[in-house]
Amino acid sequence: VIEVRNLHKSYGDLTVLRGVDLTAPRGHVISLIGSSGSGKSTLLRCCNLLEDSEDGTIRFEGEPVVWRGEGAERHPADRKQVLRIRTNLSMVFQQFNLWSHMTILQNVMEAPITVLGRPRDEVEEKARAYLAKVGIGDKADAWPSQLSGGQQQRAAIARALCMEPRALLFDEPTSALDPELEQEVVRVIKALADEGRTMIIVTHDMKMAADCSDHVIFLHQGRIEEEGEPARLFGAPRSERLRSFLSAGG
Ligand code: ATP
Ligand code: MG
Repeated sequence: VIEVRNLHKSYGDLTVLRGVDLTAPRGHVISLIGSSGSGKSTLLRCCNLLEDSEDGTIRFEGEPVVWRGEGAERHPADRKQVLRIRTNLSMVFQQFNLWSHMTILQNVMEAPITVLGRPRDEVEEKARAYLAKVGIGDKADAWPSQLSGGQQQRAAIARALCMEPRALLFDEPTSALDPELEQEVVRVIKALADEGRTMIIVTHDMKMAADCSDHVIFLHQGRIEEEGEPARLFGAPRSERLRSFLSAGG
């Protein structure tokens, strides 16, 4: 679904990504791990064009992103292409970012109606189905502030699903949650993985990365230090940096 080759990204003098490759084939779950500042969120944000990158190629469903300009000036040339890619790669953030002035149901229905122009009745039916799927069907008419953190994050996942994207991108979906609430979100993500959804998950939760992913990428200072299948990568890490990262608890 997404293929990134030789991606480079800097903020001013700070080089954040130094030639990263990432392939997320349909139905695969890729986890991105690495210490704080290693570039995980930046890579995720470059994948759905929330950030521009200076060099490298990004393909979505085989379709290469068309760039204009060079270096720090480089940006996607085709706004329609950007919209198409963003709506097909739904992002779930650490802070759930629900709209506080809308009910849970309205939050889930908003983008399919305003961005995709889908009919309200059809969207409402889907929205209710996705809320039920993540286990909060009874919260449709509640306000975000009336939900626990775990329920809010599951609402944010239902909102992403309601766009019926080709892939879901998660940036630390459980790290703002208390441990007991974390598990209910992990269960939802695991269920989505089991049903064959394409996902890229940035996480500090090594257990989730091990349980949910087909492939794990360890980033270190904007480069891929090591990657592989989770059982191998966690069971027999090759790089000294990955070993010390894992023994420090991820
Ligand atoms: P964390 O685990 O803490 O979320 P991360 O691996 O997601 O870390 P990034 O958020 O990708 O790291 O940040 C990589 C580097 O880029 C950091 O040094 C960060 O300070 C810097 N950075 C990120 N966003 C910006 C920005 N908008 N402007 C300037 N520097 C930025
Ligand atoms: Mg981050």
